[in-house]
Amino acid sequence: AKEMGRNAYCLFDPGMLADVDEQLRLRHDLRLGLERSEFVLHYQPQVDLTHGKTIGMEALIRWNHPGLGMIPPGRFIPIAEKSGLIVPMGDWVIREACGQIAAWQRDGLPKMVVAVNLSALQFQRGNIEETVTRALADAGVDPAWLELELTESILIKDAESVLTTLKRLKSLGLSLSIDDFGTGYSSLAYLKRFKVDKLKIDQSFVRDLMVDDDDASIVRTIIQMAGNLDLKTIAEGVEDKHTLHHLKTMNCDEVQGYYFARPMPADEAATFADSYYWD
Ligand code: C2E
Ligand code: CA
Ligand code: CA
Ligand code: CA
Repeated sequence: AKEMGRNAYCLFDPGMLADVDEQLRLRHDLRLGLERSEFVLHYQPQVDLTHGKTIGMEALIRWNHPGLGMIPPGRFIPIAEKSGLIVPMGDWVIREACGQIAAWQRDGLPKMVVAVNLSALQFQRGNIEETVTRALADAGVDPAWLELELTESILIKDAESVLTTLKRLKSLGLSLSIDDFGTGYSSLAYLKRFKVDKLKIDQSFVRDLMVDDDDASIVRTIIQMAGNLDLKTIAEGVEDKHTLHHLKTMNCDEVQGYYFARPMPADEAATFADSYYWD
């Protein structure tokens, strides 16, 4: 439909076909990719604003496709969710992340929490509790070093069974955060009930913090509310030092974003964590 103006009857867009083609190909290749270990986790540092230290890493999946090169998750996670493959893929992510925590601790790195993203389907179809328990045990990792990032959509679906699962997960000793906070529907009551530890303020509010008064007041309100509820806050998508300083004056606890580092392979992330200190 790119040339709509010139030819209003042209409903056929070769670009759309290419998209469908790509989706079919990726969908087909996903399963193979999982068998052939084509996925990797990159890690993006999370910096504590009080001490200026890297205290966490978010694990973000990438696909090293043999023909197409490195593919970002935005292009295959939705397909994996539609096909259900997100469940075994998500299991792999959890195991891989736990293995990485163990490896970093063996290497004597300062201890860091590794945060893993979960999809709603992992709650509905997978046995998430068993996966997490096993992965931690097999890697010999203290659950305190694992964090699970949930989206608000997980909390609204079938609230009672999710609540039970989350309670069990929490009782293992790991922590829970709400990803993309502010974009969904979760109410304050939910946050209390689900016993989450941290809110990740969505990057759409952080991006224009310095120029958009509404975004600034949303961020300030989230941080105040989190403080009142005894929840930590992390702002994601921090790209410049002015935003960073503003967040600090708002008493945000942690930050994550390109200003510090992009997601990186595990060895680079370790070097960063070992040397980087923000003041
Ligand atoms: P997310 O969980 O909200 O992750 C944050 C995304 O923002 C990442 O994109 C990260 O690279 C990017 N980002 C970080 N700092 C900045 C910044 O300063 N500026 C900008 N513009 N972007 C920044 P990425 O790695 O492409 O991941 C996209 C989404 O894919 C994630 O969003 C998450 O929803 C999903 N995802 C990634 N890994 C996994 C996974 O292992 N499992 C599941 N279920 N989803 C995943
Ligand atoms: Ca996330
Ligand atoms: Ca996010
Ligand atoms: Ca997001």
